[in-house]
Amino acid sequence: MPVVSLAEIRAAAERIRPAVVRTALEPSASLSRLAGVPVHLKMEHRQHTGAFKLRGALNAVLTLPPGARGVVAASTGNHGRALAHAAREAGIACTICLSRLVPANKVAAVRALGARVHVHGAGQDEAQREADRLAAEEGLVGVPPFDHPAVVAGQGTIGLEIAEDLAGVGTVLVPLSGGGLIAGVAAAVKALAPGGRVVGVSMERGAAMAASLAAGRPVAVEELPTLADSLGGGIGLANRWTFEAARALVDEVVLVPEAEIAAGIRHAFLREGQTVEGAAAVGIAAILGGRVRPSGPTVAILSGGNIDPALHRRVLDGADALEGEA
Ligand SMILES: *Cc1c(COP(=O)(O)O)cnc(C)c1O
Repeated sequence: MPVVSLAEIRAAAERIRPAVVRTALEPSASLSRLAGVPVHLKMEHRQHTGAFKLRGALNAVLTLPPGARGVVAASTGNHGRALAHAAREAGIACTICLSRLVPANKVAAVRALGARVHVHGAGQDEAQREADRLAAEEGLVGVPPFDHPAVVAGQGTIGLEIAEDLAGVGTVLVPLSGGGLIAGVAAAVKALAPGGRVVGVSMERGAAMAASLAAGRPVAVEELPTLADSLGGGIGLANRWTFEAARALVDEVVLVPEAEIAAGIRHAFLREGQTVEGAAAVGIAAILGGRVRPSGPTVAILSGGNIDPALHRRVLDGADALEGEA
């Protein structure tokens, strides 16, 4: 059962259009040769804030219940940046809760986007509890990173653009963590491109949705350091939307090891001229590693480009894992 309908995704596209980049879909000669089918790259690492998450965050902000005083989230990553940017675009107050562990440069980056920053607690869990407290006490609306229909509909606008730009799309490779991206993209692709296959790609180290699908219910997995840091974390044991959507709409989930993610990052840079973070390189990695058999015109979504420059350099120099994690 899709979380969102095609009509809701189309409405989200209208709503967010003025404030998002309609990213390009570019053919890749080298990946097409390797895969034996035409392969295209969806350039969401060129989205404002450097990742696709702006689409969902903006759609959530623009559909807030009347009377909402602002939005709140606990995230140091792409969702926090996206929500702060979206709130500023919409002229809505935004609070981001960060733990005391978050480095000063990341705190400054969120502040620079105009958000109020609450530094609280010794880790992400405590920061999340602070976000929940502020939501209750100040009448702020919590905007979660994936498990929310408006967020899913916003991410689904990527699927809409893929179907518009590539008639008869056969396979879409989607980086998969909590499943907001894949739930939205699959809803659009399945509605507009009958026969289109949707393949989730996660890292081997801590793939929560893959473990949950195998178990038939949301399960927790140990969170491990990975080059694909934006794919880390669980799907929530009380998952309401994206687990069922993934179960209904995702054709296959494949896992890629760290060395192949590193190879994907290198290929993106050296052969495609694109700087992408590990999470965004998993689709390329799956093709390079022969872990998927794409059929028909194929798209790999490059979901984000926010990689630490020093790490990017180490990977280009041949590193196959995070330091100390080989
Ligand atoms: C959040 C994120 C993902 C995964 O999206 P989900 O909706 O959690 O599955 C993939 N790539 C990047 C760069 C992200 O920031």
